[in-house]
This record gives sequence, C-alpha cells and structure tokens, in this order.
Amino acid sequence: MAYEPLGPYVLGSGKKAGQAVELIIFHDYPWLKSLYNKQKRKKVPEERKNRLHLHLDWLMNKADKAKPLMLCPHCGQKKIELISALGSDKYGFSMGTKFSCCLEAQCKQNLLSWAGGGASLIIPAKIFSVSHFKKRADQKKFIKILRHLYGLEGKLSKEAAFAFFKNI
Ligand SMILES: [Zn+2]
Repeated sequence: MAYEPLGPYVLGSGKKAGQAVELIIFHDYPWLKSLYNKQKRKKVPEERKNRLHLHLDWLMNKADKAKPLMLCPHCGQKKIELISALGSDKYGFSMGTKFSCCLEAQCKQNLLSWAGGGASLIIPAKIFSVSHFKKRADQKKFIKILRHLYGLEGKLSKEAAFAFFKNI
C-alpha cells in the first residue's frame, strides 16, 4: 500500500529537531536533500524503510510534481514552467516572477529577449532548482518567487505546507 501521510513530519532529533520537513524543504532544501540521500544510501527494501524515509520519498515526489498556479506572462495560456535568473554566483542573480515562461518555444524566445539575450539560467519552476544557486541570498530569492507562483506567500505554517503537498 502506498504511503499516504496524515500530517506533516516533524524531525525528532538532529540539527533541525522540532522542525517539519514540509517547511525545511523551502527554507533549506540542500540540507533536506542530503538528509534524504543519507536515507537512500542505506538501500533498505521498501517494506523496511523507516517513516522518515517513506515521508521523504513522498515529499520529494510531490515537490517534483508541484506546478505554478500562474499563467505564462508571454502567451497567457499555459502555466509557468520555467524561471530565468540573470547574473552569477559571484555577483548574485536578479530574478522576478515576471521573468518566467511556459514550455512553448516562442515564449522561451520572448523571455530570452526580455533578458537582453543574456539570461544566465533558465530553470524549472521547481524546488530542486534551488540547487543551481550557491549563495544563500540567491536561494532565498528563488524560493520567494517560487512560493509566489505556487500561491504560498507570506507566513507558512507546517500544516499549510503539508496541505499544499498533499493536494498535488
Ligand atoms: Zn507561454
């Protein structure tokens, strides 16, 4: 039977004890990803996975399927799938909710021309894309945009974050 959690998973120990993984995924994805990788490296069979491992399987899968609610600013027809970020790790990236597009070639072309043809990155509008940024400030900027596109602005409770993933 597939694992279907009824509520957020709050870590019981470690550096982030007391925090829900549904919020950590937004605040510190690289850390959560390394916790997940540690679980995966144990290579335990499905029926012997602990609850944390099952929950992270579930959460990462949901995060991969999450899609922006907003429409592409170029065609206004399809949902946003990509975000562009202009800059570098050294000097920081500039990005914004408007600098996004769907998967249509014409919309991507428009986005590139808005960026003066110099977009440094065009990345999927997904949480895992945060790994493209080395600096904490850029990671925060990216997640803020993503949360806006996902309709998760402002203060986010662990319950609201859980409900977001559950409903994907
Ligand atoms: Zn479009």
